[in-house]
Amino acid sequence: MLVDTHAHLQWASFDKDREKVINRAKKAGVEYIVNIGFDVDGSIKGIDLAEKHKGLYATVGIHPHNANQFNHKVLDKLRKLSENPKVVAIGEIGLDYYRNLSPRQAQKEAFEAQLLLAKELELPVVIHDREAHADTLEILSKFKEEITIIMHCFSGSKEMAEQCVKSNFYISFAGPVTFPNSHKLHEIAKWIKLDKILVETDSPWLAPQDMRGKRNEPAFLTFIAEKVAKLKGIPVNRLAEATTENSKEIFQLP
Ligand SMILES: [Zn+2]
Ligand SMILES: [Zn+2]
Repeated sequence: MLVDTHAHLQWASFDKDREKVINRAKKAGVEYIVNIGFDVDGSIKGIDLAEKHKGLYATVGIHPHNANQFNHKVLDKLRKLSENPKVVAIGEIGLDYYRNLSPRQAQKEAFEAQLLLAKELELPVVIHDREAHADTLEILSKFKEEITIIMHCFSGSKEMAEQCVKSNFYISFAGPVTFPNSHKLHEIAKWIKLDKILVETDSPWLAPQDMRGKRNEPAFLTFIAEKVAKLKGIPVNRLAEATTENSKEIFQLP
């Protein structure tokens, strides 16, 4: 059994075959899927889906790309949405200096405000950090004692991973760990202890190596789990067991 801790099944590219995608995930052993919000509408759609499916959960949050839409009304809306019992975290939130679709100052403000919300609601956070490692760690350092932090689709250095683990963050591996040239990620996967690892697909993006170029879906999580297990030199079942246990604890899944 596996938990896909990060997917966006509310995305339009699943409109035609969403039910089939969810069934394929179940057949592949992916029994739980955490559907990640990126704006208000995406968060609402994620919750709707989670309400319809037993193994689906949702998070609510404003992605750094959409930080320019963030304001107090939006924050209140997220607070209200998080009352739904299927909401298990705040996210994805963070900083993206690669695409800079929102001004950096707006990204930082939205990020901090949502971290405060997570603290208030005692919910874990799903962090998106792309080429913004220093600022992300600096902002998170103010919250690391009080909030459970997940570094989704980790893309930092080994040193950064060490710093994250020291701060008690979880590191989540996505499709890029399966790419042959992801040497840094391979090294981190070999080094990191099982009790700090999560796995995710980030569907519909970042399909693993064997499916590269295709739309990603939660059933492909098996490729990611197999790769991480292989790097660690352990049976995939052990990796699955550990990451499922971590996911259940963080998101308080049944
Ligand atoms: Zn992301
Ligand atoms: Zn995502």
